[in-house]
Amino acid sequence: MDLLEYQGKQLFARAGVAVPEGEAAGSVEDAVAAAGRVGFPCVIKAQVLIGGRGKAGGIKLAKDAGEARAHAGAILGMDIRGPRGEGPFRVHQVWVEAASEIDAEYYASIILDRSAKKPLVILSRMGGMNVEEIAETDPDALVRRHVHPRDGLALDEARSIAIDAGIDEDVVDGVAGILVALYGAFNDNDATLIEVNPLIVTADREVVALDAKVTIDGAALFRHEELAAIEDPPEDPQERLAKEKGLTYVKLDGNVGILGNGAGLCMSTLDVVANAGGDPANFLDAGGGSKADAIVDALEVITSDPKVTAVLFNIFGGITRCDEVAKGIIEAYGRVEMDVPLVVRLDGTNSEEGLRLLAEASLDGLHNAATMLGAAERVVELANG
Ligand code: GDP
Ligand code: MN
Repeated sequence: MDLLEYQGKQLFARAGVAVPEGEAAGSVEDAVAAAGRVGFPCVIKAQVLIGGRGKAGGIKLAKDAGEARAHAGAILGMDIRGPRGEGPFRVHQVWVEAASEIDAEYYASIILDRSAKKPLVILSRMGGMNVEEIAETDPDALVRRHVHPRDGLALDEARSIAIDAGIDEDVVDGVAGILVALYGAFNDNDATLIEVNPLIVTADREVVALDAKVTIDGAALFRHEELAAIEDPPEDPQERLAKEKGLTYVKLDGNVGILGNGAGLCMSTLDVVANAGGDPANFLDAGGGSKADAIVDALEVITSDPKVTAVLFNIFGGITRCDEVAKGIIEAYGRVEMDVPLVVRLDGTNSEEGLRLLAEASLDGLHNAATMLGAAERVVELANG
């Protein structure tokens, strides 16, 4: 589970890591009021689960209430894409925090290095930039040190990391203290990732976490009530519906809905549709078995996405019997309003019986295809036609 920046900062504050004071707001009015309390200048920051918000226009400095209003208005409701094209993510909340005067920008992170079975602390004096880039062009600028989970991170060790990283001498103790506190936060909250980029030195030579990226191990949430409580319900209506029905659903950008039985088949169906020149809108794993009810639910979720203009249902029958699936499809046509064409490819156990049932039912907008590639080509044609 990923935390929004401000949730991460609240967790940092509890662990004794210095963060700027701020308030979260979900509307322009609330943001302006928050800015008034935080004081000016303040920074209005989009709260979405991706980095690169600064470059995307999601972080703005406000010198007075008028600017706070303008920036909050522009940022709330904005769709932000990640640096690698992830998303878009819509901004539902901003974090309004006191602006910092930045003397230096460092980078600090702690990740669970599964191959070493140990947390790995990374520190660099070259923060604020794309850390992957630094790792490539100047690998020595990143100091990496494993921590034994039994011993934890001692202050001496943290100081030695800071010295190796070439941190300004007067703030070595400050940075070391923060590393120790971050390690505490990592350990106490069952985090798998904590990243602070930038970790800044202010004009007063204080070390402050200006950004926070935190991932908590979802399997450990049962012992972190306060973290489990902030797990937002998915905002996307299809995701919410799928979750309610216990289906595995992934939303994508295009217009072809994809339904399959089994995650592996769904993934390869995505690839085949993309290869045929199509643009998947989502994929939904109807799971093994795929009884009528599951198919009705699945088609309901997929067709409730207004972007979907055609659906491909790819079934490879094993334990799942194609005649059962066909009955499910026929039932779904009776119960769900199917206003987009559906291409069905049935293969495997009882596929002939399944195809016969579908042919008998002669459903409007239903198309058969014998092969996966043929089905993909057909659905792309229908989706774009
Ligand atoms: P990200 O782009 O999503 O990683 O968001 P960050 O929180 O890291 O902010 C991006 C950049 O905005 C930082 O690297 C800073 O340079 C700048 N920034 C953020 N907050 C402040 C602030 O309070 N004062 C100043 N001067 N710059 C800030
Ligand atoms: Mn950042």
